Amino acid sequence: MSSPQEYDVVVVGGGPAGSTVSTLVSKHGHRVLLLEKESFPRYQIGESLLPATVHGIAHLLGVDDEIRRAGFTVKRGGTFKWGSNPKPWTFEFAVSRKMAGPTSHAYQVERMKFDTILLENARKNGVDVRENSPVTGVVEEDGRVRGVRYRDLDGRTAEVRARYVVDASGNTSRLYGRAGSERKYSPFFRNLALFTYYEGGGRLPEPYSGNILSVAFDHGWFWYIPLSPTLTSVGAVVGQESAQLVQGDPEAAMQRFIDACPLIREKLAGATRVTEGPYGRFRVRKDWSYCNTRFWGPGMVLVGDAACFVDPVFSSGVHLATYGGLLAARSVNSCLAGTIDEESAFAEFERRYRREYGLFHEFLIGFYDMHRSEDSYFWQARKVSNTAPTDIEAFVELVGGVASDEIADGVMARARMAATSRELARTVATFEEQPVESLGAASGPVLSKLLEQGAALQGRALLGERAGEGGPLEPGGLRASADGLMWVRHETA
Ligand code: FAD
Repeated sequence: MSSPQEYDVVVVGGGPAGSTVSTLVSKHGHRVLLLEKESFPRYQIGESLLPATVHGIAHLLGVDDEIRRAGFTVKRGGTFKWGSNPKPWTFEFAVSRKMAGPTSHAYQVERMKFDTILLENARKNGVDVRENSPVTGVVEEDGRVRGVRYRDLDGRTAEVRARYVVDASGNTSRLYGRAGSERKYSPFFRNLALFTYYEGGGRLPEPYSGNILSVAFDHGWFWYIPLSPTLTSVGAVVGQESAQLVQGDPEAAMQRFIDACPLIREKLAGATRVTEGPYGRFRVRKDWSYCNTRFWGPGMVLVGDAACFVDPVFSSGVHLATYGGLLAARSVNSCLAGTIDEESAFAEFERRYRREYGLFHEFLIGFYDMHRSEDSYFWQARKVSNTAPTDIEAFVELVGGVASDEIADGVMARARMAATSRELARTVATFEEQPVESLGAASGPVLSKLLEQGAALQGRALLGERAGEGGPLEPGGLRASADGLMWVRHETA
């Protein structure tokens, strides 16, 4: 084994959680190594995203523009055939003032493309990203994690040392136990998912053709996610009683489920199943719902599926992974800068992360009660999150990932200001193309400046004093710094 290399932080895994935390730590000038066992692009499930991720966190990562230009399907909200209402019902993110305007949508993404954008962005931001480099173990000394061992491109075992190791290796993590953590599986969400891909499936009528369609049926529920005008991700989430059928003959199982669900059967009537490439097989996932007993230990932090995941309904996985990545980055940056002690910094990370996880967990338990109307689900969301002025806003904010003040007022508010300025800049560009005489005195650069200032004022007026950083969770607690990437003590801020 060659002599150990030294970094400030080693991140294990290059999914959304790993890319987020590594980029946000590297942006603060620290040396970050990211070790990924696969070669990207690699397949992953989790294709329906939330506005909090594609605008809020993506803006902090500096990748929101690239995501906007990537051509992903625009998701305005969700359409559900769920609960006591026999007819499908639809919600739109635009209902919420926290998302209205240019940030009132999310995307349905092919994860091979989305995750590659985030990983390449980490590289652009100075992270040393090494693919085909599986981590095989953790280096521990004096009760503290000090680094990892991994297999390098030549198949040799190498050791790397770091002040912090971040486990972002997803649901298959073998490392989380080294943070003194146990994985506790939910007794409630014990379903399994069978999923595959179709070409030529039907679409919901405009303007909702990009919505996720979730349809409850006798065995469980289906997701129907339009990934492109022709490609659709279709998954059946069913109870354990279907496990034998699913694992024995997935094709027959899928056909039986489709036949039992008239709305999905109708959508797939003219479609053909993809049979080649990464989308050309049936895939099964189970045992996904768990939460670890600790999210950090001395020298080690867990983010994304390595720490917790609730359930596929409402697409919270990538949101929790990237938000957890942001919270971990704040703690790591603060500790490396020596401005906040380790115990306080990571306790804050864990408190906020658990709170977000808890919101989804509590709400989803009630959402699986099929005897309720959508109004009752909206009411339940307001009861759980206790922030929005109306039930429907509370629901939309929760499932958009902006229920907590810190995401809405900090992360998302920044993204909205940037998106609003971007829209105004486009308006300015259109104005500048007009003949000068038609605009009078305020033309050219003068007009640009005026409109730019107008945009900034409008943004502030729209978002008020809340724009910028969210407050502390508790009196005297920590809150985000002005750039959003560290913790500061509230009283000294
Ligand atoms: P991952 O995306 O799993 O990334 C982990 C990375 O670590 C991988 O690239 C892996 O190769 C790498 N790795 C693993 N071990 C090692 C090692 N030893 N060394 C180095 N690298 C390693 N979420 C949504 O937001 N929307 C959805 O619609 C949605 N649908 C879902 C449907 C189902 C059935 C399930 C089970 C989950 C769904 N999710 C969804 C959740 C989503 O898949 C995850 O929450 C998300 O991928 C977590 O991101 P991550 O970065 O933590 O982990």
